[in-house]
Amino acid sequence: MTAMSDTLLINGQWRGSQDGAALPVVNPAHGTVIREIAKASPPDVDAAVRAAVGAFPAWAETPGREKAALMHRAMDIFRSKYLDEAARLLTQENGKPLNDSVKECRYSADVIDFYADESRRITGAHFAGDLGPTHSFILKQPVGVVAAIVPWNFPVDLLAWKLGPGLAAGCTFVVKPSEEAPLAVLLFIQALVDAGIPPGVLNVVTGAGDVGAQLVEHPLVNKIAFTGSTATGQWIAERAGRQMKRLTLELGGSAPFVVCRDANLDIAVPEAVRRAFSHTGQICISVNRIFVQQDVFEPFVGRFVELTRKLRVAADGLDEPDADMGPMINAQGVEKVRQHVGEAQAQGARVLVGGDAPTDSRYDPNGFFYLPTVLIDVNAQMRVMQEETFGPVAPIAMFHTLEQGIQMANDTPYGLAAYVYTQDLDAAFYAARRLNFGGVGINVNDITDIRGEFGGMRGSGVGRELGEGGLESYLEAKHVRYRYQPPGSR
Ligand code: NAD
Repeated sequence: MTAMSDTLLINGQWRGSQDGAALPVVNPAHGTVIREIAKASPPDVDAAVRAAVGAFPAWAETPGREKAALMHRAMDIFRSKYLDEAARLLTQENGKPLNDSVKECRYSADVIDFYADESRRITGAHFAGDLGPTHSFILKQPVGVVAAIVPWNFPVDLLAWKLGPGLAAGCTFVVKPSEEAPLAVLLFIQALVDAGIPPGVLNVVTGAGDVGAQLVEHPLVNKIAFTGSTATGQWIAERAGRQMKRLTLELGGSAPFVVCRDANLDIAVPEAVRRAFSHTGQICISVNRIFVQQDVFEPFVGRFVELTRKLRVAADGLDEPDADMGPMINAQGVEKVRQHVGEAQAQGARVLVGGDAPTDSRYDPNGFFYLPTVLIDVNAQMRVMQEETFGPVAPIAMFHTLEQGIQMANDTPYGLAAYVYTQDLDAAFYAARRLNFGGVGINVNDITDIRGEFGGMRGSGVGRELGEGGLESYLEAKHVRYRYQPPGSR
C-alpha cells in the first residue's frame, strides 16, 4: 500500500476508490481515528470481480505443489516481516489486548500453512460402471470466484479460514474486510502479494456493508464465504440463494456452558470465566448462558464471581498486553449490553458484579468500555438468554436433572457451540449427542482445531469451515463417465 487510503487491491495493484470516498477506522479504546480506508465504489467492486474471473483459469490449473510453495512462502514473510505490526494494528482497531492479537495472527498463518499442504492432497475417485462397459471419474474442481466477507472480531483468523482452503482448492478471491477492523487484514494480504501471488487471484475491496452486498449480488461471483451476524447472513442467503451461489455462512451464537454436579470446579470455573469474558465476550463461541446443577450452584457462583472481580480490563491493549479483556468494538455494542442487562434487572435478575461502564479515570471516557458482569435469577424469556448479547455478560441459571440442563441449553435459535463439564463419561456422551450445536466441548472451553470442522446449526449458519469439510466447500464434484469399446468393436 502506498498512500493512506490505497486499500483496494485490484488485479495486483493497490489503489484508492475511483470516486475518492474513504471511511475512518476508529480505535475503540479512545474513540479516535487511526487511519482511513478507501470506500470501494460500484465500478471498483466490478473491476475486482472481473480481475478474479480473469485469473481463475490459470490459478485453477496451477499444480498443488506450486500453490503450496507460494502459500508457505507468504506465511514465512508474514511471520518475519508483518506479524508484529499486524498484531499492534489489530489491537488498535478492535481493542483486544496485544497478546490475544499476536495469538490470532500466529494461528492465521498456521491455517494457511495447513491448507497449503492440503492443496497437494486434493484427489478424486474412480470406479467401474455398474451398467455396462463404462468407467467413472469424480473430479474435484474449484468452485470459481469467491467473495470472502469477514467481521471485525477475528478479522485475520476468519479470513485465513477462507483463503487457506479456497486458494488451495484453486479458487480466486475478492475479500471484503470489516470496515471496523480492516488494517491487520491488509498486512496479511500484503504478505501473499509479496510472495508473488499472481495478479487477480486475490483482490480486496474495503468499505461497509453496501460493498459486501454488491459482491453478494454480482452475477460473476460463484461462492459467498461469510462470517458475521445472523441478520446479515439471512439477507445474504436470500439474495445469493436466488442465483444458486455456493454458500458458507458462519453466523451468531449463544453458547451454553453446562456444569454438572460432578464437574471439577477447579477447571470449570476459570474456563467459564475465560470463555465468557475474553475478547470482552465478543466471540461467536463466547459463553452466553451458564447452567449449573443445583448441588454445586452456590460454590460455582461464589467462585465465578471471585474470579470475575479479578479480571483486568485494559485501558489500552498495547500498554497491557496480558490483560484479560479490553473495550467493546463501538458505542452500539455497549448500548446493546446496557439494554440486555437493564431489561433483565427490570424482570428480576440480580447483578453480582459489574453492570456498568468502569468509573476509573484511567479509562478514556471516549472509549467503549463495559465491565465484566455476572447475573443470577435469570429466566429463559429474558433477551440476555435469548439473543446474542455479544458483550461481557454472564447470566447463570440453575438446573436439577441433566435432562433439564440439556433442554435449557437447547432453548435457543442458535446452534454453534456448547460446553459441558462433567467427570461422568456416560453423561458426557449423552449430552454431546443431545446438544443441538455444531461443536460440543467436554471439559474444554474451545471447539477450534484446524483439523476439525467448525460451524453452526439453525440460526448459526450453513456449511463448515476448517477440517476436510472446509476444503470440500471450495470444490465441486464433477462426474466424468467414459464408455469404452471392447477391442475389435470399433
Ligand atoms: P456483520 O454481519 O455486521 O458484518 C460482517 C461483515 O459483513 C462486515 O464485513 C460487513 O461490512 C459485511 N456486511 C454487512 N452487511 C452486508 C450485506 N448486506 N451484504 C454483504 N456483506 C455485508 O457482523 P459483525 O458485527 O462484523 O460481526 C459480529 C457477528 O459475527 C456476531 O454475530 C458473531 O457471532 C458473528 N461471528 C460468527 C463467527 C462464526 O464462526 N460463526 C465467527 C465470528 C463472528
